Amino acid sequence: MKNSIFIYSDKLLTYRFSEHHPFNQQRLLLTLDLLKKLNAIAPEDIIPPRIATDEELLLNHERSYIEAIKKAGNGMLSADEAESFGVGTEDTPIFKNMHEASAQLVGGTLTAVDYVMQGKAEHALHLGGGLHHGFRGKASGFCIYNDSAVAIQHIRQKYGAKVLYVDTDAHHGDGVQASFYDDDSVCTLSIHETGRYLFPGTGNINEWGQGQGYGYSFNIPLDAFTEDDSFLEAYTTAFKEIAEYFRPDVILTQNGADAHYFDPLTHLSTTMNTYRMIPKLAHEIAHQYCGGKWIAVGGGGYDIWRVVPRAWALIWLEMTGQSTISGSLPKNWIEKWEEKSPVPLIDQWEDPANMYEPIPRRQEIEEKNRQITERALYFVRQQQKQIKKKNGH
Ligand SMILES: [Zn+2]
Repeated sequence: MKNSIFIYSDKLLTYRFSEHHPFNQQRLLLTLDLLKKLNAIAPEDIIPPRIATDEELLLNHERSYIEAIKKAGNGMLSADEAESFGVGTEDTPIFKNMHEASAQLVGGTLTAVDYVMQGKAEHALHLGGGLHHGFRGKASGFCIYNDSAVAIQHIRQKYGAKVLYVDTDAHHGDGVQASFYDDDSVCTLSIHETGRYLFPGTGNINEWGQGQGYGYSFNIPLDAFTEDDSFLEAYTTAFKEIAEYFRPDVILTQNGADAHYFDPLTHLSTTMNTYRMIPKLAHEIAHQYCGGKWIAVGGGGYDIWRVVPRAWALIWLEMTGQSTISGSLPKNWIEKWEEKSPVPLIDQWEDPANMYEPIPRRQEIEEKNRQITERALYFVRQQQKQIKKKNGH
């Protein structure tokens, strides 16, 4: 068995709305090049993604929607139809062959899942995935097909395993949550910037799930300007307690890197410290509960030069036991990309100490996030109390 695999081929770069759209898969290339220049990845670690079949897409998407996306990619979808399927918007424009490009991203996550579930790899990383806003019958927020939701349905059907989905993108993981809202064999946790001022506006603490799935959907909406310590406190507390409560067979993490201070689309204020700790805990918990079974996907991340390559390289470095890295980035990586970057690159693994002015409401924000976390976990804590009572502790 391989320790870890990295899913990649240039085909993943075909998922591109337009030249100036913020969702830019060049990030994959930048990240992989960084790992190569570090000698942290070998050619045999890299596995090409398969393409998802229609049958697989149907595990989570409506046939009419898949047909519409195919038509859109061939320039055959009317404007009215496009609107009803959530495409052709400013956020999620139509592009040529969008079905094939989107099915390729889903196939990457399915490849990752099959390697891990069949015991061919302990961990798998597919940075092309993580398109958490895709709904069953509607595109939204740069996302067409929801690779994680399809992959979780595939895990359920083919392997019958209980899945814990943990989403640390700055935006609420609404599409994945919706797919499993009434399902008690899939638990979703999303930690994100509050929807008060940020897309998609959902992800309140009281979105617990429904029917059979009640108590299997968790949300921690953090205040704008949240920094490392507070983000990590919420993440660590919630992840640990929910893992103990749910006892998953496999963990799927969505690793959007848009909660960073530099991210142009959001208002959180984390640094590279957060992106070092996020995969570290996921790794630990996967070994504690799931015999190591951990699949990680990408997601948002719109500062593709200064933030995403370092943040995403750290996931691979964590998976492969190389995460103690610090100091300078490889000089040849900086030299290769600095001309292309519109902003000066950061040449260290750590962010500069005074990257931003101190945040005046810091304590208030921390206190508020703490209360939100407590309330979000109320249900978990009640259950745990009852279990303890029953067992006579
Ligand atoms: Zn995001």
